[in-house]
Amino acid sequence: MYEFTYHRPKTLADAAALLGQSEDAKILGGGQTLLPTLKQRLARPSDLIDLGQIPDIKGICEEAGGIAIGAFTRHAEVAHSDVVRRVIPALADLAEGIGDRQVRNMGTLGGSICNADPSADYPAAVVGLKATVKTDRREIAGDDFFTGMFETALEPGEIVTAVHFQKPDKAAYAKFRNPASRYAIVGVFVARFGNEVRVTVTGAGPSVFRATDMETALAQDFRAEALNGIAVGADGLNADIHASADYRAHLVTVMAKRAVEACG
Ligand SMILES: Cc1cc2nc3c(=O)[nH]c(=O)nc-3n(C[C@H](O)[C@H](O)[C@H](O)COP(=O)(O)OP(=O)(O)OC[C@H]3O[C@@H](n4cnc5c(N)ncnc54)[C@H](O)[C@@H]3O)c2cc1C
Repeated sequence: MYEFTYHRPKTLADAAALLGQSEDAKILGGGQTLLPTLKQRLARPSDLIDLGQIPDIKGICEEAGGIAIGAFTRHAEVAHSDVVRRVIPALADLAEGIGDRQVRNMGTLGGSICNADPSADYPAAVVGLKATVKTDRREIAGDDFFTGMFETALEPGEIVTAVHFQKPDKAAYAKFRNPASRYAIVGVFVARFGNEVRVTVTGAGPSVFRATDMETALAQDFRAEALNGIAVGADGLNADIHASADYRAHLVTVMAKRAVEACG
């Protein structure tokens, strides 16, 4: 690891000021991705701005129409939250399925979505639950947040402070996980809001996407059987040592059906 200066600001304003002082400063969330990157010398920030001492960006709160979760809320807190379990149980299930206990005890919601790993679970919920991402500068619709593989709509130095998830009538997440890391080889989040259905897919493509043919079919008939014969095309899907693009395309339909069945 290279040398860097470590900061622990106590307010968002101080964190933003520190970020503004150096072009090479990096925000530190739970460190689950960033610290290994530094250890492997793949990144060389001059300063690390640890957000862990800023109370305003932590915690879970029920709000009109949904739940607001602070960016520095650990996956384990979401998984074990009575509020999340009652209002959007699918979100608690999703958090409970992230990585292992150590990763869930350290990793944060903000770090996960800012990292925008194509195999991460939270992006499927951010888009599936019509979330709004709040930053120290603005609000970004969840639909516009993920712009590509490891890319987001954030500007340099912009800090995610919270995510507001809308409460669906029904929702469930089904994941075919990598047995070693537990990242999604394919994960599908299905959410129903009245007559509208969202089917969001992570792990399969460079970034989270909506399976719109499935959404249309489920809006007319909210049963797993409605997805018979509907598949996403393999073109442009991820292919690696874990799964080919064709296999991932097949898994999208399988996981979507499982998620619909889990909606009850
Ligand atoms: C072994 C292992 C298994 C895992 N399995 C899964 C899995 O099954 N599913 C899954 O979804 N994820 C998985 N993860 C990812 C993990 O859950 C974390 O979400 C992820 O590593 C990043 O979150 P973090 O809080 O640790 O962020 P960090 O590593 O601290 O930061 C990641 C990036 O986000 C930026 N950042 C952090 N917080 C903010 C903020 N508030 N505003 C702006 N930028 C910010 C940082 O500058 C950095 O670029 C796994 C990780 C490991 C190591």
